Amino acid sequence: TAAKQQRLGFRRFAAGRTEDSNARLTLLGDLRRALDTGDEITLHYQPKIDISSGTLAGVEALARWRHPVKGPISPGDFIPVLEATTLIHRFTHQVLTQALTQARVWLDLGHRIPVAVNISTRSLLDPGFPARVAALLRQTGVPGDQLGIEVTEYSIMSDPNTAIEALHRLRRLGVKVSVDDYGTGYSSMTYLRLLPLDELKIDRSFVQDMSTDRGNRALVASTVELGHNLGLTVVAEGIEDAPTLAALREIGCDLAQGFHLARPMPADAITHRLRHALIAVA
Ligand code: C2E
Ligand code: MG
Ligand code: MG
Ligand code: MG
Repeated sequence: TAAKQQRLGFRRFAAGRTEDSNARLTLLGDLRRALDTGDEITLHYQPKIDISSGTLAGVEALARWRHPVKGPISPGDFIPVLEATTLIHRFTHQVLTQALTQARVWLDLGHRIPVAVNISTRSLLDPGFPARVAALLRQTGVPGDQLGIEVTEYSIMSDPNTAIEALHRLRRLGVKVSVDDYGTGYSSMTYLRLLPLDELKIDRSFVQDMSTDRGNRALVASTVELGHNLGLTVVAEGIEDAPTLAALREIGCDLAQGFHLARPMPADAITHRLRHALIAVA
């Protein structure tokens, strides 16, 4: 009968959900332990390259979790789990601490490399966040302008007043603000003009096939122009081949990030490249 089918369907659905939430609970427990011990979660750094000079303009810190049993788990899989709980605040604090400690090491070696950190919605909207960033800058002795934060349009638009206030406070510390994955959200051009920003990062979905897709190339070109008209630095992410880089150079995009230029790598690999002048700092 229909009722029986519905019951069976429901039972199957419920079992699926139970399995799913069990997996999440296990993952959450493992994450809590990882945050307690503090040595499973590390950062890799991906170079942001100045397109016209070919020099290093900065790096983006990307979280890496090596689970003792399951091996590497990608941020796309564990950050949403963290974001559903207040553990995200501890995670953000650890990531910022690691990134600023590394920036201090580079400064002490004579390399002035800005380090950008991705900030989740919950952390950005946490009223204590700007003050905690200020405290970490003081503790590590890193000038505010050596730190960048990457936030998404979605984060800002989920609570514009709170987000804009936080961004203003961060920028008063000298911190540079980037809109990440730009183009995938829904902020209007009018809104963009009102936001306290320094940088636009064009999402890789527009960048990836721009050397063959006229539509995407036009979108990237007009975003670069829009960004420049608003006084922003424009970064293209996800450059995987030379033709894409050439197209971006032609368009006048400022910075590029992608596997074609450099993959995310451990801090030591960045230091090595800097020491051997394999990448000059812009
Ligand atoms: P995102 O901030 O947009 O970071 C760029 C992602 O694209 C990174 O993936 C990077 O490894 C990848 N990528 C870079 N170049 C290329 C390329 O040429 N081709 C392709 N296909 N991919 C490229 P990853 O490290 O897996 O990070 C995924 C996302 O997880 C990040 O996207 C960011 O939203 C989030 N994330 C990473 N680390 C953190 C963190 O510490 N905190 C927060 N809140 N989010 C983070
Ligand atoms: Mg990012
Ligand atoms: Mg991005
Ligand atoms: Mg992206």
